[in-house]
Amino acid sequence: MKTAVSSCGAVVAASQAAPTQAICPKCGGIVFLRVRRLMANSGNSYYWQHQDGDHPCDRQKPFMRMRYS
Ligand SMILES: [Zn+2]
Repeated sequence: MKTAVSSCGAVVAASQAAPTQAICPKCGGIVFLRVRRLMANSGNSYYWQHQDGDHPCDRQKPFMRMRYS
């Protein structure tokens, strides 16, 4: 996900300046800042990911969300 919530309740977008740890706005779980290296000249892509790495909140496709709701 691209946005999470900090420990003080503020929405924080995933970026180079973001803290390494934040809170999932959907389930309240801990998420960690991850970096995905893009192709040359494209820079890095920052995003939040759950600690277990395979959390229902991280799934983007609607039909996958329905499975877990
Ligand atoms: Zn979550």
